[in-house]
Amino acid sequence: MKTVMIHPATHDSLRPAIDRAFEIFPMDFAGKTVLIKPNALRTSAADEAIVTHPSVVRAVVEKVETLNPAAIIVGDNPGVVSYGANEECFEKTGLMAAAKGHYRNIGNDPVKVDFNPAFIPSVSVSRIVMEADIIISLPRFKTHGLTVISGALKNSYGILPGAQKSILHKIAGSPERFHEVVVEVFKLRVPDLFILDAVVGMEGNGPASPDLREIGLILAADNGVAMDAVIAAMMGCDPACLRFLQKAKEDGLGDYDLKTVNIIGKLDVIPDFKLPPVSGEAITGNIAIQEMLASKNQFRPRVDQNLCTACGTCVAQCPVSALTMAGEFPEVDHDTCIICFCCQELCPEKAIRLS
Ligand code: SF4
Ligand code: SF4
Repeated sequence: MKTVMIHPATHDSLRPAIDRAFEIFPMDFAGKTVLIKPNALRTSAADEAIVTHPSVVRAVVEKVETLNPAAIIVGDNPGVVSYGANEECFEKTGLMAAAKGHYRNIGNDPVKVDFNPAFIPSVSVSRIVMEADIIISLPRFKTHGLTVISGALKNSYGILPGAQKSILHKIAGSPERFHEVVVEVFKLRVPDLFILDAVVGMEGNGPASPDLREIGLILAADNGVAMDAVIAAMMGCDPACLRFLQKAKEDGLGDYDLKTVNIIGKLDVIPDFKLPPVSGEAITGNIAIQEMLASKNQFRPRVDQNLCTACGTCVAQCPVSALTMAGEFPEVDHDTCIICFCCQELCPEKAIRLS
């Protein structure tokens, strides 16, 4: 039976939760190379909650330092808008200081690995991901327009350096297939321990939403599927309806059935939690949502002209060139758009709405 710990915490008092996580999930770190992988989605301020909070990263780094590892490496491959700007992302988010000298640009040294040929024969993964003895994944409690939740499994999408993230979005071509891609990436190297930053979580139009929620928890788990099932339940979403959890279970990566999960702590559903506006698209069995998806004319990314600065990031990074700067602001070609929501995820002004 897999275990998920739910422990109270604040940014000023993380140590009891982190210590407890390492008690519940003991590992031998002596002489090992340890990769600590936060969610460093993009350059942003720490209090925007887009990345794992620096205080959580620092607390985990300081804990691992006491366990005599041979080496600690802290790194991630930020999303499209921060490609090639790993240092800037880590500096501005505060993650660089939190890494206490253990930061490494893991995007500079990729290695080619086999992938599911139904999508693509091979992908490049940061070498340290494949070579580390122990990986500690540090996701943040967030919603996601395409996968509903951005937790343990989705955090592993960052093991892909460079433009592969958007290329795989394009290859997937549909929300359900993208769920399957997330699992295919996750299983390239399943992390050994997951510690989730749920001190302040994100609801609404994640993973870069302005809607934040005080939750006051740190979660830890030895299994990503079990952790994501708990996150989904806390958000008021049935984990059994999420395609990526179904696929992960089919692939033997764990079970989302909470009856199979040993929960240490108290699982409370967060009242009136706001799921992403199109979260249902990733929920199989929801006929209304499936019909909406099939219509191809609803729930598309649209630009809020009051917020857009016409920076062009979304136009440059759309994997299928569905966005053009025809006039003053970007316009979406709805027939070309594959609903990957990369533009919404990466817009620095949060100017892409799903409507
Ligand atoms: S929608 Fe966002 S990313 Fe696109 S041009 Fe406007 S500000 Fe830039
Ligand atoms: S317009 Fe946005 S959602 Fe549509 S394919 Fe391009 S990046 Fe993805």
